Amino acid sequence: MLDLKMYINGQWRDSSNQEKRPIVNPANSDVIAYAAEGTIADAREAIDAAKAAFESGVWSELPAVERASYLLKIADKIEENQEELTRLETMDNGKTLREAGFDVGDAAACFRYYAGLITKPDGHTYHVADPMQAMVVREPVGVCGLIVPWNYPLLMSVWKIAPALAAGNTIVFKPSEVTPVTPTKLFEIFEEVGLPKGVANMVMGAGPIVGNEIAASSHVDMVSFTGGTKTGKHIMRTAADNMKKISLELGGKSPNIIFADADFETAVDYALFGIYAGAGQVCSSGSRILVEETIYNQFVKRFVERASQIKVGPGDDHHSEMGPLVSQQHMEKVLKYIEIGKEEGARLVCGGNRITKDGLDQGFFVEPTVFVDVKPDMRIVQEEIFGPVVVIQTFKDEQEAVKLANDTDYGLAGGVFTVDGAKALRVIKKIRAGITWINSYHPTYNEAPWGGYKQSGIGRSLGTFGLEEFQEIKQININLQVEPIGWFEK
Ligand code: NAD
Repeated sequence: MLDLKMYINGQWRDSSNQEKRPIVNPANSDVIAYAAEGTIADAREAIDAAKAAFESGVWSELPAVERASYLLKIADKIEENQEELTRLETMDNGKTLREAGFDVGDAAACFRYYAGLITKPDGHTYHVADPMQAMVVREPVGVCGLIVPWNYPLLMSVWKIAPALAAGNTIVFKPSEVTPVTPTKLFEIFEEVGLPKGVANMVMGAGPIVGNEIAASSHVDMVSFTGGTKTGKHIMRTAADNMKKISLELGGKSPNIIFADADFETAVDYALFGIYAGAGQVCSSGSRILVEETIYNQFVKRFVERASQIKVGPGDDHHSEMGPLVSQQHMEKVLKYIEIGKEEGARLVCGGNRITKDGLDQGFFVEPTVFVDVKPDMRIVQEEIFGPVVVIQTFKDEQEAVKLANDTDYGLAGGVFTVDGAKALRVIKKIRAGITWINSYHPTYNEAPWGGYKQSGIGRSLGTFGLEEFQEIKQININLQVEPIGWFEK
């Protein structure tokens, strides 16, 4: 049984009121850990520690190359602990070992990417009116509050922590209360590599308590949040009170458009991966498949045939291709959406049930589920379900495909399958979303910006854009002729 503590000012700490939260393995309901349940007082202490560390310059004033060397050591340690981190991620989140293994590899690569980026040329100079010289430099924002969800417990943490630290900020980090296990291991690595105390602080606990304090505190200069759109709106309102910088990575209901001329088996294969990877608990999931009407029946038949063959089981069973949902509460939400779909008159052609046979009755497993004959205004078409539930719609032509694709409040991701290159680019350019793929779905790169249009968020993670989120921009104007301006008469 793991005993997970918070990390504040370089010390491992229980909650100030000694409360602990049981952490459950979603494959079998076993309690795998107890995590310190942070309080407002704990959050304030972590914020104070981060503020003091920032103001001391112990991190922000280090040469970039020295900060980078810490990041490189962290990456090495993540790799040294690859097997343990993978196993723990599967135990806590439920995802398969294969999925978790990719996340751990990506986490190490993300630290290396930002270690490299921060040592590269930076800033601009401008030739302005003589005798002035103008230059622009980038500086850390200060204390950054980082709040993450449960679907990629380690990777979502790293997407924020790596650029925030690279840029010279100090951090107060809050993992999801459901999945604090691998984030705790990450902070153990921070301790091992000797990160100065107060630079990286972790508080666990409930969003409306600890998370809200981070968003509200006037000592936090920026809040970077990944999670649901409703929570994101709340954080935006809370952060507005002291005008903090915000970055929001929110939900999605992303379209995956399949034209009749697409390579059929490739399109079916990626469409399955698009929705059922991570059991559909991926913000960019292709949860609305739009298929050209001439191949619609053929597509649905083949898709359902393949979906019903997916091997659902515990993530630590090497035969499993799809794991459970993260918690009982989340499973109930997904099952409720399946009921809503039926009540709305959509036709269920695959799955639709919790799986309890073959020893899975203590876990939160749901069948790969497919709805057809849906209408654009149905809730299962408009709302993020965040589970293995897809709707397949049909369209007549390019224009209708684009119209349906853009017909939600979200704008996170989208895909197009066709062998006509011009058509692919024409359509993708009309999709109002920040992350898109042509003849592919889901691959993510540390080099490329990640984030959404519309109600899917504000700002970008990853790439150079992801670093800039954690930087302020300062102009410095230098007078090369040091003499009075003489504006007022003496
Ligand atoms: P959530 O919004 O419920 O919680 C996310 C985090 O916010 C958690 O740490 C939670 O404790 C905290 N939180 C909750 N209420 C808060 C409050 N009032 N103030 C401050 N913090 C609060 O989301 P979730 O259920 O953990 O994750 C699923 C959601 O995350 C989905 O909507 C998914 O699309 C989204 N997501 C988006 C991306 C992206 O990159 N756009 C990536 C992963 C997940």
